[in-house]
Amino acid sequence: MDYLSEVMWTEDEIAFRKEVRAFCEKEIAPIADEIDKGPYPRELLRKIGKAGYMGVLHDASAGGSEKGVSYEIIIAEEISAVNGGLDMGRMSSTTLYGMPVSKFGTEEQKKKYLLPIVNGEKIGCIGITEPDVGSDTAAMKTRAEKDGDEWVINGEKRFITNGSQADYMCCFAITDPSVSSKKGMSAFIVDTKSEGFSVVQDHDLLGMKSARVSWLKMEDVRVPSGMLLGELGQGFTILMDELDSERTAIAAEAIGYGRTAFEVSVRYANEREQFGRPIRAFEGISFKVADMAMKLEAARALTLTAARMLDRGMKATKQASIAKLYATDAAVQITNDAIQILGGVGYTTDYPVERFMRDARLMTIGGGTAEIMRFIIQREIYKEFFPRK
Ligand SMILES: Cc1cc2nc3c(=O)[nH]c(=O)nc-3n(C[C@H](O)[C@H](O)[C@H](O)COP(=O)(O)OP(=O)(O)OC[C@H]3O[C@@H](n4cnc5c(N)ncnc54)[C@H](O)[C@@H]3O)c2cc1C
Repeated sequence: MDYLSEVMWTEDEIAFRKEVRAFCEKEIAPIADEIDKGPYPRELLRKIGKAGYMGVLHDASAGGSEKGVSYEIIIAEEISAVNGGLDMGRMSSTTLYGMPVSKFGTEEQKKKYLLPIVNGEKIGCIGITEPDVGSDTAAMKTRAEKDGDEWVINGEKRFITNGSQADYMCCFAITDPSVSSKKGMSAFIVDTKSEGFSVVQDHDLLGMKSARVSWLKMEDVRVPSGMLLGELGQGFTILMDELDSERTAIAAEAIGYGRTAFEVSVRYANEREQFGRPIRAFEGISFKVADMAMKLEAARALTLTAARMLDRGMKATKQASIAKLYATDAAVQITNDAIQILGGVGYTTDYPVERFMRDARLMTIGGGTAEIMRFIIQREIYKEFFPRK
């Protein structure tokens, strides 16, 4: 198969993909439709953690294997190719919550608040978005005020993946409203069992049905000062740092949905006969298959490039945004074409393509919309063309 190509992946990565795929076939595929009624069982996340698929980005002190982003995108693609919402939950815990703790947390914080995430015992989430704050994260309203040895947090966070299931949230809040958010925002680890922390509601979503995505409220939530992540006022830097790895992994998830929809379509077009021949004989169908394959290959190459850059410690803001924009758009088109190739049965739940189409639709919104990706890409291009002296 092309994704096992020796041109793109190392021998170890190819072996790792085979291993993850075998795990998915055994542990997830048999219940993929069932768990889509949501939420995914906690036990499944524990199994994923035990298998080591929550820790490839984290160091040994947090129970991780430090394999890197190229391994994370293999896991993201393989699990997403079976169930989208489950990987969104896994990734929110280990990458979106985990990376800020991993990169900016103290050794003590990592031991206490990351290790149980990596082994799948606890669930994490990231709290950026608010009812009035989406793409413009710098306009954040959630406030944290110092009171003795504690921080008191007030605010609401909306659309938080894992929200009502999570044990810990990496919460971004304004700590100094007198300066710009770039200097006045900080990040905290918040225990969701804290007094004043509540779930307003779980959102009823178009897709990603196996995940829980919630609206959360914090009223005078007291957080010990030792749960500040990084330096005071470093929140915006932490937020921006997290996004490049998140966007690369989201691109890989999108490839997963597209891949399954593509494989189902190729087989169906070969078997289904109309007008006395398999429908693959009609250009209207076979050209779609060619376009789907091309988009998948391109998405994979872009995503792996971003992953390799991140693994080398390079700044990958433009590449991660390009990969995310292209792969998520491709997944929407591929899953949509898959339904067209299957005709009426594509619109039923007898085949999983309608589920993948609904899951894929989120990906041009979450983690930064397609419009914001275009904004970032052009901004980075102008920075390259006209560097500040
Ligand atoms: C299922 C799901 C899970 C999510 N999980 C999380 C999570 O775990 N944690 C978290 O913090 N957030 C999460 N989000 C929130 C997600 O990141 C935001 O929805 C996203 O960033 C967009 O914000 P918004 O929805 O407020 O849209 P808005 O920012 O209000 O945008 C609305 C429209 O305006 C466009 N727009 C806005 N600004 C510009 C601009 N400058 N130029 C051009 N167009 C623009 C957007 O592209 C979009 O089309 C999740 C969302 C969903 C739906």
